[in-house]
Amino acid sequence: MIKEIKKIGVLTSGGDAPGMNACIRAVVRTALHKGLQVTGIYHGYQGLIDANFKEMDTRSVSNIIQRGGTILKTARCLEFKTVEGRKQAYDNLKTAGIDALIVIGGDGTFTGANFFSKEFEVPIVGIPGTIDNDLYGSDYTIGYDTANNTVIEAIDKIRDTAASHERLFFVEVMGRDSGCIALNAGIAGGAEAILLPEKETAIDDLIHHLEDGAIKKKSSSIVIVAEGDQNGGAYYVAKKVKEKFNHYDTKVSILGHLQRGGAPTSFDRVLASRLGFAAVNEILAGNTRVTVGLRGNEIKTTPIEEAISNKEIKLSPDLLEMAEIL
Ligand code: ADP
Repeated sequence: MIKEIKKIGVLTSGGDAPGMNACIRAVVRTALHKGLQVTGIYHGYQGLIDANFKEMDTRSVSNIIQRGGTILKTARCLEFKTVEGRKQAYDNLKTAGIDALIVIGGDGTFTGANFFSKEFEVPIVGIPGTIDNDLYGSDYTIGYDTANNTVIEAIDKIRDTAASHERLFFVEVMGRDSGCIALNAGIAGGAEAILLPEKETAIDDLIHHLEDGAIKKKSSSIVIVAEGDQNGGAYYVAKKVKEKFNHYDTKVSILGHLQRGGAPTSFDRVLASRLGFAAVNEILAGNTRVTVGLRGNEIKTTPIEEAISNKEIKLSPDLLEMAEIL
């Protein structure tokens, strides 16, 4: 028999992403509207183990829709990877009277949720929140659009200085396993070349491409390198290129953590709100071990096991081909 849900817990876990706050707000307000109580769990799974809980009301989520980061904080928690850790988390949930969980995070967060929900029969719905856009089941993850816009702003600024000094810039963007940000920001920022984890680029081919540009009298060039590119990152690529190609002064810019911060874009705020709203409805409909995601502008669920095991590459062949030509 399905237990009646009276109180839900919400947490953010893994890497933070702009829009997580908008999502928390949507979860809290939708749940309250539907007559549920809501507990905020701080520091992700660590807060479950430490019983770091706070009851949420509608005012607890005022004035946060426009803020990056997460008011519930996030953490990486090794203890949750052990059965003992998860048992402690379950005991704390029971004591607090929390009947179901909504977890906002990435692949690791969903993996933990899957174990926990199976072991202790806690209903859980996952919401994809990561700037990497590397989760199966949603065309876009919360934070990805904002991160792309941050990167484009940076590329535009770098292009101004690159053009003034006739320089070649290697700009490293986030994406250890996923080239989504690199590909999209590279296209939108008009990069000369884009190096991705999903696709091998020979340094010699890159040099030929840049030589072509130099022959056509390009005064500057920008190459986007995803941090997980198979050549080993922007510094390494820049060094290798410089050994054979010295038409320009060469510089490297690692964008780093600034890509995680900032006010979420309108797209991310709406996406986060829709997914938070949908997650509460899924819990109330008796669904568990699913993620909610956006597919073709509709909100759809995906079994959590499929979301974490399906490593299908999301880079569109059209975009890859177009990036080469433009
Ligand atoms: P993300 O959710 O962004 O992928 P992580 O990979 O750091 O981030 O995962 C977030 C948290 O999820 C981890 O700190 C850990 O507490 C939990 N987690 C990750 N993998 C597992 C696992 N195999 N078993 C249990 N919990 C896990």
